[in-house]
Amino acid sequence: MRSPHHPTPDSRRGPTHRLRIAVVGASLTGPCLALLLTRAGYGQVTVYEALPAGAPHGGGLLSLEHTSLDILDRLGVPRTAYVHLPSETIWRAPVRDHVVGDPTRYGYPGQFTTWTRLHRALISRLPAGTVRHSAPVAGLTEHQRRPLLHLADGRTAAADLVVFADGRGSTGRALLAPHRRLRYAGYVGHRGTAKANPAGLRDLWRLEPCPGIQFVVAPVPDGVDWTFYLNATTGQYTSMFGAPPHRRLYAHPRHLTDIAYRHVDSNAAWHLPAAFAAAVHTSTARAGFAVMDIDPPDQMVWPVGDGFAILLGDALAPVRAHTGRGANNGLEQADGLATALRQHHRHGADLRTALTGWQRRHLPAAAAAVALGPSIGAKLGLGTRPTPDTAPTPAAHPDRRQPAMPSPTTTFAADNTSTNPGWPRCTIRRRCPGSAGS
Ligand SMILES: Cc1cc2nc3c(=O)[nH]c(=O)nc-3n(C[C@H](O)[C@H](O)[C@H](O)COP(=O)(O)OP(=O)(O)OC[C@H]3O[C@@H](n4cnc5c(N)ncnc54)[C@H](O)[C@@H]3O)c2cc1C
Repeated sequence: MRSPHHPTPDSRRGPTHRLRIAVVGASLTGPCLALLLTRAGYGQVTVYEALPAGAPHGGGLLSLEHTSLDILDRLGVPRTAYVHLPSETIWRAPVRDHVVGDPTRYGYPGQFTTWTRLHRALISRLPAGTVRHSAPVAGLTEHQRRPLLHLADGRTAAADLVVFADGRGSTGRALLAPHRRLRYAGYVGHRGTAKANPAGLRDLWRLEPCPGIQFVVAPVPDGVDWTFYLNATTGQYTSMFGAPPHRRLYAHPRHLTDIAYRHVDSNAAWHLPAAFAAAVHTSTARAGFAVMDIDPPDQMVWPVGDGFAILLGDALAPVRAHTGRGANNGLEQADGLATALRQHHRHGADLRTALTGWQRRHLPAAAAAVALGPSIGAKLGLGTRPTPDTAPTPAAHPDRRQPAMPSPTTTFAADNTSTNPGWPRCTIRRRCPGSAGS
């Protein structure tokens, strides 16, 4: 019997294909794609991950729609490996004077997991040696009519296909589509995990005390995971997390100042029922993320000589968390890309045509998810009217303050000399490693 953890190519699919595929990013989208390609018989798949093995990403609760669950089913990942909550229900409720009002029930067409569990389920099933950790990619050029990845330590890696699944602060996007810049949406998702489940929750709850405030909470294996959305100006964000939003997209526990702790505690005490305010207060390892917008994507594939570079998942189209589409988009795009490559592999389909078809199918959904975020935010009063810049006060514990991250520096630019018609050509630029975002 075949071990699900170390898959071998199905012999009916023919010999291992010779395409060398480099995937950048080993969070969710990258490992899912690598697993799909390995199962399809592609034997030369390498995943480059900036962080060391086992580094905490700080990811919390994720909702996976049936499409994503089905992809994982087909990969042979058992539900028990990643779904911790058998619920298919989301509750939405107002809060008045610290009391939860009449809730409205929504059926969720999927199930809930956490980043940590899903990541582990995917990574543990990749063949040993597929992921290279501590390998930040800093640039991409063309060499002998093939994409050539440049790692931050000076090493290079040649590939036929480079897939950037390197998240919101994507180096790939900065190289391939530099006109698409992230914009701060004016609010923050403060996150934490409380060790207890004080209200005995069994489903995901969205509590909405008033416009401009939303508290999302759900059970996780060891307590409850919460996200508290609060408006904040760029100055307030900087005071809370030690760097402005575009430089620190995700603030890890070590980045949080006392200002952030006090700000969240006082808003919880002011707006939430006592049990939830206490859960927030007792959550010591907290994090925060800047809610960002971006222009919708207009391209997913770029020719690089006779090879291709591709953007996938959050690298292509980072969406607001309220849409619940981030992880889902990445997995669905990865599945579609694997389908296109299988047609090339098994039936000799023209690779460029297969990739064009894949892009045509997935681009509209990615663009729609990007557009959905601001309309949800506006309905919640989030981001549209940031509070006055009054929160910053001096941090009480200087050791919680962190120095700002280095500024991005463009080092050189080199033209992509591709002559492939069909896609707008890109100018590939090499950047310094400090510019990849947080
Ligand atoms: C609070 C919150 C709640 C969310 N809820 C949901 C939800 O309910 N449903 C949903 O579908 N999505 C949700 N999301 C979004 C979801 O977590 C992301 O969309 C998803 O993790 C994106 O996966 P990704 O692999 O594309 O990118 P990421 O998870 O951002 O991973 C990118 C990876 O690339 C690596 N990397 C970055 N730069 C480089 C480089 N230069 N070289 C090498 N490696 C690099 C990073 O270290 C990282 O491992 C939520 C997000 C947040 C913050």
